[in-house]
Amino acid sequence: MSDVRNVIVIGSGPAGYTAAIYAARGDLKPLVFEGSVTAGGALMNTTDVENFPGFPDGIMGPDLMDNLRKQAERFGAELIADDVTEVDLTADPKVVKVGEDVYLAKSVIIATGSGYRELGLENEKRLSGRGVSWCATCDGFFFRDQDIAVVGGGDTAMEEAIFLTKFARSVTVIHRRHELRASKIMQDRAFANEKIRFLWDSEVVEIHGDNKLTGVRVRNTKTAAEADLELTGLFIAIGHDPRSELFAGQLETDADGYLLVEAPTTKTKIPGVFASGDVVDHIYRQAITAAGSGCSAAIDAERWLQDQG
Ligand code: FAD
Repeated sequence: MSDVRNVIVIGSGPAGYTAAIYAARGDLKPLVFEGSVTAGGALMNTTDVENFPGFPDGIMGPDLMDNLRKQAERFGAELIADDVTEVDLTADPKVVKVGEDVYLAKSVIIATGSGYRELGLENEKRLSGRGVSWCATCDGFFFRDQDIAVVGGGDTAMEEAIFLTKFARSVTVIHRRHELRASKIMQDRAFANEKIRFLWDSEVVEIHGDNKLTGVRVRNTKTAAEADLELTGLFIAIGHDPRSELFAGQLETDADGYLLVEAPTTKTKIPGVFASGDVVDHIYRQAITAAGSGCSAAIDAERWLQDQG
């Protein structure tokens, strides 16, 4: 049986590393499971991050994550690049497993993030940060006076499209059906916006470009007719999947799978278990808000541990 840790952090995005920095500086000697393939989180898949405070010239996503990682290590966080495969959060102490290996902790901070749904097309990943994006707030600024498209038909897609009209010359919403899923109010706003046009019954079947996006091929879902669109930006807004399956049956989620916390704290319904970042947040989904809630989770954990005596 291994030692009982004060705190185990699951996840190594901005939320996980920030929680680790604060917990380490609070002398809690956190153990962090970073994940294997996706260590460093969502920002490892992007290029310039221009909106994280403190970097007036911007910073590359992987460099920002490397900095956060080093900062956590500097204060004594122990980092393991493995995926947690099982947890028992109701046990005392709490159990965290990586395959056959068992780790015990008084408290657990969950920061497993959420996955952006992809179209599943060739070039999509390669051109991420090079014209293909999943976040208008993050990248809209790069597309001033350009012709761009948004894929999707829900509220998020409409929000992204409307936001992007502040910068873009034109925004084409590509949607596979003939009507939107978005709420009436969002639809009305999008229809009233002169810069937005709709390409109905259409799906993207190819993404074009060598180093930068140059366009897409769309197929009409009714007639199968195909056409090429010249674009410099493609925003994919077809949904997110919070990574909360590991905690199913132990922690409460909303209908979309986001973990529920006692806002404005990061407390879950299980004492000593805290959740932060995009696995909780379906509203802001930014690196800085994830980092902020990781900080809150570490402080919540520290105070909870103190109260346990
Ligand atoms: P994530 O960054 O998703 O990290 C989750 C972590 O959990 C990962 O390290 C993963 O390995 C780990 N994990 C998951 N499951 C397990 C497990 N079972 N065991 C161990 N570890 C696990 N935001 C901005 O503010 N500015 C931007 O410019 C910007 N650009 C973006 C560009 C792209 C392409 C994308 C996808 C997102 C961008 N965002 C940007 C959004 C931002 O990246 C996220 O809001 C932020 O990363 C969320 O942080 P997080 O720590 O909650 O989760």
